[in-house]
Amino acid sequence: MASQDGGDRADFGCVACCAEDAAVAQAHHRSPDGVRPERMIRDDSHFIVSVQRCGLCSQAFVSVFTEYIDWVASQDAQYRTVLPITDAEADDLMAGRLSPHRAGALGHGRRHLQSDWPSDAEEPSVYWDSGVFEVREGH
Ligand SMILES: [Zn+2]
Repeated sequence: MASQDGGDRADFGCVACCAEDAAVAQAHHRSPDGVRPERMIRDDSHFIVSVQRCGLCSQAFVSVFTEYIDWVASQDAQYRTVLPITDAEADDLMAGRLSPHRAGALGHGRRHLQSDWPSDAEEPSVYWDSGVFEVREGH
């Protein structure tokens, strides 16, 4: 994994998958040639966890998607967290040695790409957040 040239960027990824601008980073993550799924860890309709890898720099990520059915609003709330992880952590997740529910603890001292789409919002908000986060299954 290539270390970046100082600055305050985290030591993960490249200028595409870990772009300073969260919207730019997300565009790369969504691109077919950007960050590709490597292994599905959980694939429930409201809780989807996968290990992904950047096509440019091979940085591994864990992606956690949760959806909450909102019977009142017309659309369901969706939340997605994408955290860069080491190859060893990716191996642990894929081998089942690390529960996806504990993946949030890996966020300590790192940034993660967060996409929040509450049921009452017209568009998702995308931003870099940092630190440990809670992994909860949607419903
Ligand atoms: Zn990359």
